[in-house]
Amino acid sequence: MMDLIAKNPFTLVFQDKALAWYRTKVFEPVLQASQNLRQEFEDKHIGESITEVKSIAEDIARKHNVKGPVRKKINMILLILLGVVFGVIITFSFIPELAVIADYITYPALFMMCIIPQTLQQVYMKKWNKFVNIVMPELEPLITGPAANLQSFAQTLIYDIRDKLIANNFPLQAIQFDLQSNQYQGLKIVNQSMAENRPVYKFQLAYPPGMEPLAPTAVPVEDTNTKDEFASFLIKEFEGEHIKDYTFNYVPKENYDKVNGLLDASDFTDSKQAVEFVEEVNGFNLKCKCGEPLVFKDCQLCNWGKGTDFHFFFATGQKCKCNEVTYLFCADPKDVPNELKDVFI
Ligand SMILES: [Zn+2]
Repeated sequence: MMDLIAKNPFTLVFQDKALAWYRTKVFEPVLQASQNLRQEFEDKHIGESITEVKSIAEDIARKHNVKGPVRKKINMILLILLGVVFGVIITFSFIPELAVIADYITYPALFMMCIIPQTLQQVYMKKWNKFVNIVMPELEPLITGPAANLQSFAQTLIYDIRDKLIANNFPLQAIQFDLQSNQYQGLKIVNQSMAENRPVYKFQLAYPPGMEPLAPTAVPVEDTNTKDEFASFLIKEFEGEHIKDYTFNYVPKENYDKVNGLLDASDFTDSKQAVEFVEEVNGFNLKCKCGEPLVFKDCQLCNWGKGTDFHFFFATGQKCKCNEVTYLFCADPKDVPNELKDVFI
């Protein structure tokens, strides 16, 4: 916001309500949360700088015959237009002689009402942007002082946000945001584009020199979103050493208690067989519930306790884009004990 006011003050011109909203809903809570920021906000007279930039920009706008916010103008025109169209429609429906041709007028009129607001807005925005591009060079030298002041406060905010995020173990690369200026320290530029003839920069916060980026997995929010799913892979037929025919099904949720019981009662061992098995399974292009391909990484050979000889493979899938982690059970259906059929079939 500080950056936007400093670099493109015309976005705020005649927008007293919007500015008041920002002051109470955005600036105030931020300043309330930090004594240091409030101190700097007051010492640097940031509020006064905002007012100064805004009023200089408004003076220039008035000089060029722009006397109010563009949006207000558009809304006014639309209101008048709407009144005229409804007036015409009502007149037509009350005069029987005209009723015959009313249909020919009503529908095109309604159709126009759908098209006009958008077109009008586009035309006005284009005109407005052209105006801004013309008057910016006139404005810029007049606001260098307060604009630099606002940008220096923006710089403080950048460092403040960075330090708070790091203190909370939040990976900085998870956040991207747009700024109008690339003059700030402590940022890493991600992308640069042009909007209405002015550059817009996409940034991430940069880590302080010498600090290793935090792993994205450190975000606790992401972890709580992970959903575990269990699936069963049954080998119906072998051809030599290789699986020829199989079934793949997600285990119904109501059987998850049994799944947990099975895992609790089983011993897990690393095995070469299990590694070879999971490689082969990855070749079958199994799909997650959301349709993304499933890739399994580790797989272990498991022995179900209870004095049986029942063995199965248990493979862990990579977390899918949909946040699901699929765990795969695999066995030969002939070997599955009766009491585990719910899990495996
Ligand atoms: Zn998925």
